[in-house]
Amino acid sequence: MMEYYIPKGDRLVCQLCAHYCSLKEGQSGLCGVNRRSGDRIENLVYGHPFALHVDPIEKKPLYHVLPGSKSFSLGTVGCNFRCPFCQNWQISQNHTIDETRFFSPEQIVSMALERGCSSIAYTYNEPTVFYPYAHDIAELAKAQGLRNLMITNGFESDETIADMRTLFDAANVDFKSFNPRYYKKELGGDLERVKHTLIAMKQAGIWVEVTTLIVPSHNDSDEELRAIARFIADELGAQTPWHVSAFHPDYKVLDIHATPQATIERAQAIAKAAGLHYCYGGNTAMAQQTHCSACGTLLIERHGMRTVLNTLEKGRCPHCHKALEGVFDD
Ligand code: SF4
Repeated sequence: MMEYYIPKGDRLVCQLCAHYCSLKEGQSGLCGVNRRSGDRIENLVYGHPFALHVDPIEKKPLYHVLPGSKSFSLGTVGCNFRCPFCQNWQISQNHTIDETRFFSPEQIVSMALERGCSSIAYTYNEPTVFYPYAHDIAELAKAQGLRNLMITNGFESDETIADMRTLFDAANVDFKSFNPRYYKKELGGDLERVKHTLIAMKQAGIWVEVTTLIVPSHNDSDEELRAIARFIADELGAQTPWHVSAFHPDYKVLDIHATPQATIERAQAIAKAAGLHYCYGGNTAMAQQTHCSACGTLLIERHGMRTVLNTLEKGRCPHCHKALEGVFDD
């Protein structure tokens, strides 16, 4: 198991994410939910989820993981980014922890099983900031045959990714832009680090799907979308699903209109030209289909975040028997 923090001089360095905050006594890291207390860093949100829901797995979005299944989804407060258009800002940018509600990892796994879920999704805010809690839940969940899913901004430390290797089955990683300045100044992240995470997760054997929230005038140029599509095709493989999601005005970005359907379709055309086999529109009313990349047979169709058709036979095309890439039950 990884060391969540290590001493460095009179500081303790948090190793949960790539910010590697170096904390003096009483200091909290950038996420606001990990605080130095004596000779340890306390994960203040451990056991205190802010949100607990049973969601369709399509909502994560993970389209190539157990389609049609339910995922027990939890998040806490806190985030290591500060995206001005965050669609979950009431959770992510909030540091108020309700300590009156405690859910042990055992309780979380029991609730997931009682509700007929096939997986646990660590989501809503950035799970890396509550990784000690996620890790403990994930260990118990795995022992009970549940899958573990990380929905993340891709700013994990190498230590966290190494720890995830044996526990996590799949991740949806945000790829918010191909502009390093935008990542750093607007989001508080780092483009190179996110690229590194995507490759490292794939090498760790975690099934990776990528999401780009397309914000008009911020990241919707042909050039930028092409760069993201090419990176996915070249570095992660043409079989990697890319979700191109429509933005709606939220949080601090209220003066930009919602992403038009035509932009989503333009991104899908760019994905196709880059050789990607699967590019899905998100936050749109359009049905999203998966076709076999070998023979074109319709395999899965989704409407409104739910799978309405699934013709897979043990994860394979019913016509040519090619396995669909992803995580499926045998
Ligand atoms: S999780 Fe990241 S942002 Fe939070 S204290 Fe640790 S290194 Fe800093």
